[in-house]
Amino acid sequence: PKYVYTWGNGKADGHGKMKELLGGKGANLAEMTLIGLPVPAGFTITTEVCTYYYAHKRTYPSTLRAQMEAGIANMEKIMGYKFGDSEGFPLLVAVRSGARDSMPGMMDTVLNLGLNDKTVEALSKATDNERFAWDCYRRFIQMYGDVVLGVQKREGEDHEPFEEVIESFKHETYGKDIVDSDLTAEDNKELVARFKKLVKDRTGQGFPEDPWEQLEGAAGAVFSSWMNDRAIVYRRKYGIPAAWGTAVNVQAMVFGNTGTNSGSGVAFTRNPANGENELYGEFLVNAQGEDVVAGVRTPDPVSGMEQALPQAYKDLLKVRKILEKHFTDVQDVEFTIQDGKLFMLQTRNGKRTAAAALKFSMDMNKEKLIDWQTAVLRNPADQLDQLLAPVFDAAELKKTPEIAKGLPAGPGAASGKIYLNADRAAAAANKGEVVLLVRVETSPEDLRGMIAAEGILTSRGGVSSHAALVARQMGKVCICGASGIEIDYDKKTVKAGGQSFKEGDYLSIDGTTGIVYGGQVATEPSEIITGLINGKKSSQNTEKFQHFVQLMDWCAKATRMGVRTNADTPEQVKTAVAFGAEGIGLTRTEHMFFEGDRIDAMREMILADNETNRRKALKKLLPHQRKDFFGIFKALEGKPATIRLLDPPLHEFLPHTKEQQLDLANKIGIPVETIMQRVHELHEFNPMLGHRGCRLAISYPEIAEMQAQAIFEAAAQCVKKGIEVKPEVMVPLVGYARELELQVEIIHRIAAEVKEKKGVEFDYLVGTMIEVPRGAVTADEIAAHAQFFSFGTNDLTQTALGVSRDDMGSFLNSYTENDIYPRNPFASLDTTGVGQLMEIAAAKGREVRPDIKLGICGEHGGDPDSVKFCHKLGLAYVSCSPYRVPVARLAAAHAAI
Ligand code: PEP
Ligand code: MG
Repeated sequence: PKYVYTWGNGKADGHGKMKELLGGKGANLAEMTLIGLPVPAGFTITTEVCTYYYAHKRTYPSTLRAQMEAGIANMEKIMGYKFGDSEGFPLLVAVRSGARDSMPGMMDTVLNLGLNDKTVEALSKATDNERFAWDCYRRFIQMYGDVVLGVQKREGEDHEPFEEVIESFKHETYGKDIVDSDLTAEDNKELVARFKKLVKDRTGQGFPEDPWEQLEGAAGAVFSSWMNDRAIVYRRKYGIPAAWGTAVNVQAMVFGNTGTNSGSGVAFTRNPANGENELYGEFLVNAQGEDVVAGVRTPDPVSGMEQALPQAYKDLLKVRKILEKHFTDVQDVEFTIQDGKLFMLQTRNGKRTAAAALKFSMDMNKEKLIDWQTAVLRNPADQLDQLLAPVFDAAELKKTPEIAKGLPAGPGAASGKIYLNADRAAAAANKGEVVLLVRVETSPEDLRGMIAAEGILTSRGGVSSHAALVARQMGKVCICGASGIEIDYDKKTVKAGGQSFKEGDYLSIDGTTGIVYGGQVATEPSEIITGLINGKKSSQNTEKFQHFVQLMDWCAKATRMGVRTNADTPEQVKTAVAFGAEGIGLTRTEHMFFEGDRIDAMREMILADNETNRRKALKKLLPHQRKDFFGIFKALEGKPATIRLLDPPLHEFLPHTKEQQLDLANKIGIPVETIMQRVHELHEFNPMLGHRGCRLAISYPEIAEMQAQAIFEAAAQCVKKGIEVKPEVMVPLVGYARELELQVEIIHRIAAEVKEKKGVEFDYLVGTMIEVPRGAVTADEIAAHAQFFSFGTNDLTQTALGVSRDDMGSFLNSYTENDIYPRNPFASLDTTGVGQLMEIAAAKGREVRPDIKLGICGEHGGDPDSVKFCHKLGLAYVSCSPYRVPVARLAAAHAAI
């Protein structure tokens, strides 16, 4: 078999599409050669050799050596030098690893291979540059000694051993630190001797003089590094199979360190931070490639080349154009200039921020490099929320200490004075303070404080905890489960990172990374949010905003699946609609009971111990609900609204403190002892599996009656005012067809009554959530009563995995570190397990009711990977919090293209 693929002089055995066999670097070196760019000749040893190496006790195929010799011979012919030549200019090579994608943790590069005590003299003579030759030799022994022979820092040592030798030499000789390029030929000779001694001391063996031994050693080091710990950890994290293997690239050296007419650099063909169409990067005169990245000398901006090496700079600009035209994407390149002549050493697609990705995609479409579908695909959905979130001032952030880390639950940056309870947070916000609400965990009681706060930080709870889902719905920055912070409600202090913060002190939270900072950091709002507020036509809108609008328009063109929103208020609806939501996928009616003093009527209702009293309390709630629903319908302007009947884990609504109980007793005229007694009776050991969901309305049908009445009366009101309405009434937590049947009967009865009484007609749907496993596997029975299903994947995950959505913080880390969870299953759908339940439910539902409308309203509806799964399942829509609507739209478009 062919194990070695050569390139050089405009010809190549391989090409850019052969990344599996040649690795990313090798394939692109071949491709660059084929399109006529100046690439020093070389060859790639294929990934198949890596596979062979591990399958055969770390040995090589018998024909490999001969093929490598042919590869070297090809390079010698093209370059005109001989490998190991001790008379004329010796061919030196660079050996680099090259997996399909570049992989940190693996052996990277050995330069100047082929030098020994004889060839260094030949190089010196041929170039008439002794300093240069010995500089190369010193570098070679250091790199080879480090990465191939393993002469590295040992435990307890502070410095790399080779650096230690250089350092002490400089101080001995010059009495101070000088830059490496100032070392003389004699200095480098002395260092070579000392380096060799170091190698001998550490390895017990002399430095290999034979170039072929050197080359085989370096290739072996690349293959071995495929299985080192760092590489294994990296592959695990990114799901790269070990079976892929790495390739090895051997390339003729060109020298950036021959003098001031030479240099090395790295560059992006456009700015990867902000997307500007400008060459962006760094270079160093009289240096080899690793000097630029190693940080020993501070490189200059690549634009500085225009002065220092004008011709090479012009050539580089030409190469930039050719590369972009050929690869139709922004490239990240390495190059070297030897005596004024430019050589390309590597190219790959450049990594980029979300802002750069957006600008690249729009500009390249305008330049006719890519079509609009490709432009959409060039924007990663999981990065898009970077564009919508406020950001920290980078310089200030650097000066502020990190004090804790939690789960990134609501993206963006927020900095404010901390308050540990909702009332004090709201009061401070009223006075104009910017506030962070810090709680162990939140409950609906904290809603006032959450609304008032700029950001929310909790020490307990997961990404679908109350704090997380409410924060996202409101577009607030949020970190959950930051277990490193210690909250003392009595003393009103927060301890973290060895510091103590009082109420009113500043903390800053980054809800995109989950990092908590101790102190104040300035923030800026996203241009896109500002643009949406200004309105699409405003002349103040930035280019970034216009690009965003264009991207969303293209998404609409590509998408099959709709995106709805989870919203409980007209404001949230308006935000979501501005982002392109096609309706509401979930209104959690229980969230509406915490405004003003509705909570009192709600508590009265829950605490009622007979139907009469319950109906009395419900009557008080009815007008509030009707008004809320009317507001939501109006904001939707005819778009559909899925409204879920009450699903409260009861404990969230009970008055827990003595103070609250007394207060309620006074307000509703019941003895406090009775209230205490009822609270005691209603206590549940496991409220999430307790008297919640439709179970509540099964016990107390009057609750469903009141809610249905409020929904339909609001609908009737709309019809009378000429506002189009499409209510979809949804029953939660259904596991038995009979549960739904009983509720549906009530809903239809009330609808008929309202129509009759108000003398209007309106259409509506009745359906259910699929959020417990029994509901999923008996979906055929349930579908007989349901016009639609909405997957409640928060509860479905909780019940399918048997993992509490609020208590997983304590073991989530061990579960992801041990590869049990590929990702947090409450953030990204467990497609193998929970996904299977969804597949069963979808199939069974469609069997009985082919036109059944299927959607999802769990938090997964805003996660790109989960959205793709939903597309495959053929769902009609996904529903997510307002600020995630663009993310879901982009992911849905990706799935469809
Ligand atoms: C769900 O369970 O997925 C859901 C949307 O409902 P909630 O989060 O309100 O339980
Ligand atoms: Mg649920």
